[in-house]
Amino acid sequence: MKKALIVVDYSTDFVATDGALTAGEPAQALDNYIADSIKTFIEDGDYVVIANDLHTLDDPYHPETKLFPPHNIKGTSGREIYGKTGDTFKQFKQHENLFFTDKRRYSAFAGTEVDLRLRERSINEVWLVGVVTDICILHTAMSAYNLGYNIVIPEAGVASFNQTGHEWALDHFENSLGAKIIRN
Ligand code: ZN
Repeated sequence: MKKALIVVDYSTDFVATDGALTAGEPAQALDNYIADSIKTFIEDGDYVVIANDLHTLDDPYHPETKLFPPHNIKGTSGREIYGKTGDTFKQFKQHENLFFTDKRRYSAFAGTEVDLRLRERSINEVWLVGVVTDICILHTAMSAYNLGYNIVIPEAGVASFNQTGHEWALDHFENSLGAKIIRN
């Protein structure tokens, strides 16, 4: 086991047309790629992390309450993993090489077990997919960089509601974090 796929925030609220904080069609276009990647990583004996935002409504202690409309609220359908990716997640939910984690900050590493679990398995390469490129993927990539992981980001696996931010982030991953970008 050498590498891990980290699927960030691929939930109904971030992806579906009627999602509360949706990146819309660019996010929906990732579904097949992410679902296939989960399957491939599991079948190859690699590791998969599904990291999903968890909020409570109007949480006065959470900085995002002032920044974004309510999203990924505990117990709502908006938190469910979207589409074919959601089906593939359910298929492998009990697999020992798949780890689901709630997260409270943009980064999948912030306040979660992700770093510990990767280190236990001597994994030093992370592949980041999901949404959105210039917020949660960016912050996850920065954590991975600071923790010393090699980073791979497939262009076909990330999207944003902000195309300018998306392109800036891809450039930042490559030129400032030393990530390998797999171009379309
Ligand atoms: Zn959030």
